[in-house]
Amino acid sequence: MRQIAPIGRASVGCGPLIQPLTDTARPLRQQIFERVRAAGQMARVQLAKELCISPASVTTITSELIDAGLLEAVETLREGEGGRGRPAVALRVRPNTRLVVGIKLSDREHTAVLVDFAGTMLAGEAIPRDPGPMALDAILDAAERLLDRVCTRAGVAREAVEAVGLGVPGFVDCDSGVVHWSPVLLHRHVALQAALRARLGRTVFVDNDANLVTLAELWFGAGRRLSDFAVVTIEHGVGMGFVINHRIYRGSRGMGMELGHTKVQLDGALCRCGQRGCLEAYVADYALVREAQTALNLPLGEMQSVGVMLESLFDHAKAGNAAARSIFRRAGRYLAVGLSNIVNLFDPELIILSGERMRYDYLYASETLSEMHAMMLDTGRDAPQIETHAWGDLLWAHGAAALALHELTEHLLGPSRELAAE
Ligand SMILES: [Zn+2]
Repeated sequence: MRQIAPIGRASVGCGPLIQPLTDTARPLRQQIFERVRAAGQMARVQLAKELCISPASVTTITSELIDAGLLEAVETLREGEGGRGRPAVALRVRPNTRLVVGIKLSDREHTAVLVDFAGTMLAGEAIPRDPGPMALDAILDAAERLLDRVCTRAGVAREAVEAVGLGVPGFVDCDSGVVHWSPVLLHRHVALQAALRARLGRTVFVDNDANLVTLAELWFGAGRRLSDFAVVTIEHGVGMGFVINHRIYRGSRGMGMELGHTKVQLDGALCRCGQRGCLEAYVADYALVREAQTALNLPLGEMQSVGVMLESLFDHAKAGNAAARSIFRRAGRYLAVGLSNIVNLFDPELIILSGERMRYDYLYASETLSEMHAMMLDTGRDAPQIETHAWGDLLWAHGAAALALHELTEHLLGPSRELAAE
């Protein structure tokens, strides 16, 4: 395993770098636009080659995209010829067009980023908050305040923002925009997408935090070049996002991939969801704290002291306390069960373990990986790569911005849409 930062703009462009001929169900105009955005810039001849279509078709479609204000032509140098390249014309996403904002509401702080349609970040904001669930009005106030602040910082009017991506932890129906349960919301079954759309007067998309981390990896991080990969998030709960053929998979009703609530023990430990034997009831923060309290006689505190209790547990483990070590080892073994189930079900190229708790290396120790390997089907092939990524400050908000970029692109260029000139 190696520790690397999740967000890195090592190369130009943003969005999934899709291999030729893997996405034929989408309109050509959308495939062309997404390829240009992912590459940063691309010549028409290259587009024709990658999509196996005629140069004339590329010219027609890209002219429409240019007329619609989405692409523009730029002069570039031809590669080769001993550095004496002749000027050539490439296409790129028109800068500063179609601004979107990504907002992440969480227990400890709210964050936002403003990006343009090419994925370039123009501004970011973070505001601290008191932990605990909030009423819907307070959530809407926080989102509106963040939107205004990030617009002010970037020097753009709020009206220039075309869409807002919003992420919250919990059970979120991405299709309907209803949050069935979230630790940041006082009530259940809240139509958050509709309420925020009414408050902001902008198009709004809502998703859960595990999917946001996955989108951040898919659009800006290690997942850009991969067609199939999983992201497992471990903090207060255990979440998973899964990418199939460069696109996030949410299930038929927008609420699939709840890895944390897959059962790993019949009649097992009690989970936050009310059922027993869920994976997160053995691996998540609250599971570790529950055990620590018993084994180390730690005081039971409020929500904000969970981090302190985990630090204490980790310190005890480092100092050689056998009970503390056994808690991490047990959690690590259950994590191995969860990871091997992912591999046996989906066979991803890469599994990214993501979270603030990545420093608890007892949980992500080589023993955990060995146990995962032991529970995988023995086919003689190499196991998927496992990477651990610590969260950056604006990771979630970047994922929320990617959600807005993706949905807005679908809306503008997806199937059965008319492409209107600007
Ligand atoms: Zn559960």
